[in-house]
Amino acid sequence: MRNYQKELDTLLERMEKEAPRLLLHSCCAPCSSYVLEYLSRYFSITVFYYNPNISPEEEYQKRVEEQKRLIRELSDKNASFPIEFVEGSYDPEAFYQMAKGMEHAPEGGERCFGCYELRLRQAASMAEKGGYDYFCTTLSISPLKNAGKLMEIGEALAEEYGVSYLPSDFKKREGYKRSIELSKEFGLYRQNYCGCIFSKREGTAASVPK
Ligand code: SF4
Repeated sequence: MRNYQKELDTLLERMEKEAPRLLLHSCCAPCSSYVLEYLSRYFSITVFYYNPNISPEEEYQKRVEEQKRLIRELSDKNASFPIEFVEGSYDPEAFYQMAKGMEHAPEGGERCFGCYELRLRQAASMAEKGGYDYFCTTLSISPLKNAGKLMEIGEALAEEYGVSYLPSDFKKREGYKRSIELSKEFGLYRQNYCGCIFSKREGTAASVPK
C-alpha cells in the first residue's frame, strides 16, 4: 500500500529547484491552513479557489473571504515564499450537471469522486496554462475525504495535462489536528457541512466540521 506522506517526504528531500511553483486547489480556509503552513516552506504557492459545489452563494462568498484573509495573515506571519490567490469561476451549474443522478448518494461516495475530479481538472488545466511545476489539493486533510481516490484522479490528470501531481495525504502527521489549532489561532469560520446542498441536507452527523 502506498504511503503518500513518505512519497512527499522523498520528493521534498530531492527537490533541486528552489521554491518550485505549486498550484494548490483549496476547498476552504481551515483545510488550507495546515497545508499552507507546511508547504510554503518549500514552494511558491498560488491558492486556487475553485468550488462550484458550494451552496448557497452566500456560503461560498463567506468561505472565499476567509480564504483571502488567511492568506494575508499567514503571508505576514509564516510563509517563507510568497502565497498568491486566484479565484476560479463560481459556476454551480457545472456541479449540478456532474451530480445528476447522484443527488442521493451518501457523502464519500460516487458523487464526491466526481466532485473531486471536477475541481482537480480545473486545477490541472490552470496549472498547465500557467506553467506550474506541480498541482495539488487541500482536500486530503479531511478524515472524510478519500486520499487514495484523490491521488488516483490527480495522477490521471497529471498524465493528461503534463503537470506533476504532488503526492499527499495531509491528514497524516497530525495535519488535521494542526488545522483545527490554526483555525482557532486565526479565528477562522469553520463550516459544519462539506459544501454542496446534498451534504447540507444530510446534516452535520455525516459531515465533520472541516
Ligand atoms: S459532499 Fe462535499 S465532496 Fe461530496 S459532492 Fe458534496 S461538496 Fe462535493
